[in-house]
Amino acid sequence: MTDLAADFPILASTFDGRPLVYLDNAATTQKPRAVLDALTDFYASANANIGRGHYALARIATDRYEEARGIVQRALGAADPAEIVFTGGTTDSVNMVAETFGRGRVGAGDEVVVCGMEHNSNLLPWRRLCEDAGARLAVVPVDASGRVDAGDFAAALGPRTRMAAVAHVSNVLGTVNPVREMVAAAHRAGVPVLVDGAQAVPHMQVDVRDLDADFYCFSGHKVYGPQGVGVLYGRRDLLAALPPYQVGGGTVKGVSADEPVRYVPVPARLEAGTPNVAGAVGLAAALRYVDKLGWDEVRRRDERLVRHAVAALGEVPGVRVVGAPQETPSGIVSIVVDGIHPYDVGGHLDRHGVAVRSGVHCASTFLDDLGLLGTVRLSFAVYNTVAEVDRVAELLRTVRPGSWTAEHPTARFL
Ligand code: PMP
Repeated sequence: MTDLAADFPILASTFDGRPLVYLDNAATTQKPRAVLDALTDFYASANANIGRGHYALARIATDRYEEARGIVQRALGAADPAEIVFTGGTTDSVNMVAETFGRGRVGAGDEVVVCGMEHNSNLLPWRRLCEDAGARLAVVPVDASGRVDAGDFAAALGPRTRMAAVAHVSNVLGTVNPVREMVAAAHRAGVPVLVDGAQAVPHMQVDVRDLDADFYCFSGHKVYGPQGVGVLYGRRDLLAALPPYQVGGGTVKGVSADEPVRYVPVPARLEAGTPNVAGAVGLAAALRYVDKLGWDEVRRRDERLVRHAVAALGEVPGVRVVGAPQETPSGIVSIVVDGIHPYDVGGHLDRHGVAVRSGVHCASTFLDDLGLLGTVRLSFAVYNTVAEVDRVAELLRTVRPGSWTAEHPTARFL
């Protein structure tokens, strides 16, 4: 397999003389030169505000932004570029839907259905909505292997269910949910579904029409794009009916002191203020990078790394792989080490130049259900290698309790 690390300048970094082994890609991926170049090129040759200025540079910037929207549309298999809203990321996208679509739909005594594995970003917006509306948040249980059964999901849909929001891929265990069947069951019950695709889009070719998702969200930075930009896909008729999420510049046709405000159509109505234009352009470059590599190649790499990790880490005395990531390889393998806190494991690896995430992964309710304090999560990208996995396995043989020291303020985010 070609070594793709050379495409990613940061991967040449060393820490205390040790080469970086970056295995925290579910948190954020590193950026290929193609994305860095696209960002520099935008600022060096096309930067202006979009949709406002009547001059050549503004038209160039607007065209680049809309071209990026078209690239996202095609990547997701959406029917129309107007179904693609640029947001700040998955969290922003979910909040947008909860605060517009959700608030308009969910009332006292109603229900919103989520799964037991949701990331806080696809849990808390619904929990807050339910608390405010006097509605109930129904949580579909996850089995011991981290799977959600489509039948259990269907059974959770009741006559008062007004909305469902489900992860496509778990950021903790990498489980791929049967989203197509879940959406079909929800639609039979007349329930619209938002799919949190933050961990899916980097690892598989997503087709929103095939899934029949009503809303689909992802973050640019988890798929080799820049931070601070993401996407909300919404079915045209649903998006068109949404009120603005935020109001301000770019959302109105005209404002006068004494007439009702007239808003522009979507997607601009949902993109108040100056959007992250360079971010959108960088995200488009990232999607092009993956497209050029090909989804079969991405899948082959994920399968190889996940299977190798399950075998190699599982052989280390005291190490247990959580769930069954080898069944639906999506680039994530979570482990626990007998008698050693995940922070200690992460600290030990860090001291040897290996970056992994240890803790509850912004999904503490899921970790509670699994009966775990936390896990150590290896999450892969296209540039990772089996040699890096072997390095982790070797280091795990020497980990001892007490390796972690909370010496940096980021420790509070663990
Ligand atoms: N959902 C899932 C499944 C995630 O993994 C993440 C990021 N860890 C998010 C939502 C939130 O994404 P962001 O922080 O980019 O908004």
